[in-house]
Amino acid sequence: MRWNRFWILGLGTLFTCTFFIQAKNNPVSRKQDKPIRTIVIDAGHGGEDPGAKGSYSTEKQVTLEVALKLGKILEENMPDVKVVYTRKSDRFDDPRKKAQIANDNKGELFVSIHCNSTGKIRKVTGYKTVYHKKGRRKVATRQAIYAYYPSNAKGTETYIWATSKNSAKMESLKQNSVIVLDANSEETKQLMNDSDPETFILLNTLRNAYFDQSLRLSTLIEDEFTRVGRISRGARQRNEKGIWVLSATAMPSVLVELGFISNPEEEDYLNSNSGQQELANCIYKAIKRYRDELDRFTNSRNNTQQSAKEERTGSGPHAYLKTGKSRKGKPVAPQQSDSYCVQLLVTDKFYKPGASIFRKLHGAVTREQVVMNKKKMNKYTLGRFRSDEQASTALRKARKLGFKDAFVTSC
Ligand SMILES: [Zn+2]
Repeated sequence: MRWNRFWILGLGTLFTCTFFIQAKNNPVSRKQDKPIRTIVIDAGHGGEDPGAKGSYSTEKQVTLEVALKLGKILEENMPDVKVVYTRKSDRFDDPRKKAQIANDNKGELFVSIHCNSTGKIRKVTGYKTVYHKKGRRKVATRQAIYAYYPSNAKGTETYIWATSKNSAKMESLKQNSVIVLDANSEETKQLMNDSDPETFILLNTLRNAYFDQSLRLSTLIEDEFTRVGRISRGARQRNEKGIWVLSATAMPSVLVELGFISNPEEEDYLNSNSGQQELANCIYKAIKRYRDELDRFTNSRNNTQQSAKEERTGSGPHAYLKTGKSRKGKPVAPQQSDSYCVQLLVTDKFYKPGASIFRKLHGAVTREQVVMNKKKMNKYTLGRFRSDEQASTALRKARKLGFKDAFVTSC
C-alpha cells in the first residue's frame, strides 16, 4: 500500500513538474506519457581503469559483459525503449563523460554496473619464538604467524546517491533543463537559470521525486536478486567514490554491485555465462516492474484527466494544462493536484502533532512513517493548501523557522 501512495504522490508531483516545464514550450504535448523512453546502461570502469581485481579477472571485464547482456535483453523485450551504453568496449572514460552521455541522450533511467571487493583477511596459523636482547639477557617472546585469505564477503548491493549530495543532483537537473522538450530555447534557458524561489521549489520537488524513484528501483533490483537465491546486502545510500555519477545524471539513477570479485566463489559466478545472464535478467525484471508501475500510474492519470476534461463543457486542451502567468509575471505550476503540502522534515525522532518545534508554524502537522535505509523514519508534513502560492508562502515561513530541507509537494 505504501508504494501505491508513493506512485500517486511522487509521480503526481513529478508529472506536475514535467508538465510545468514542458508546457512552457508545447502545452498540448503528450509525448511524456510514455514514462521511460531511454535507459542508459553504464558498465563501470574500463580501459586503463580495471576497477577491483579478483584472482584471475577484473571488474571492468565483468561489468562490460553484464551491461551488454542487460542491454540485449532490454532491446529484445522493450523495443520501444532506446538503450544507450556509456561504453560497449574496453574503453576508459572519465565519469564526467559518462554523465554527459546520459544527459545528452536525455536518459530517463541510469543504471551503473559494478563489482564489489574487500581486502584479504588475516588469520593466525601458528606461533614462533623469537629472541631479543634485554640488557645482557636474552629474552624469548612468542610471535604469531599470519596467513592471508580471501574474504568470504558475498552478495549484492544497490546504491542511490546519499541525501548529502542532493544539491549536486539539483545542479545537474538545472544544468540539463531536465525533461524540457526544447532545452535550447531562450525561454527555457531563462526559466532554468532563474534563481527565483518557484524554480528552486520545482527543481527541489523533481529531485525528491527522482530520489524516491531511484530508491524504488534499487529495492526492486535487490528483490529480484533475492528471488534467484543471491544474498542481498540491501538497497543503500552511499556518499563515497564511484557514486559521483549518480548525482551528476539528471534522471533517476542507481549503482548495482553485482557481487564480490574478491571472493573466489563469487568470482567464478561473476565470470560464468550463466551467472552473468542471471544477473542481467534480474536487473531487467526489476526495470520491467518499475516501468509497469510507472505505466499503470500514467494510464490512471490520463483516464482521470480525460474524464475531467469531458466534464468541462467547452473547455479546450488547456483546461488541465494551465500555464498562465501570475500577477508578478512568474510562471504558475499547473493545477493537477487538488492540494499542496509542505514536507518539513524526515527524521528518526518522534514528535507529537502539537510539539513545540511545530508550534510557530500555526498549521496542522501530520506524521507518516516511512522506511529509509531499512530504518523506520517519521515524515512530517504541514497543512493542505489550495494553491501552490499559499504553499510557497508557508514554505518560506517554515524555512525561516529552521526547516531548511522543507519543500512543497502535492498531497
Ligand atoms: Zn567499481
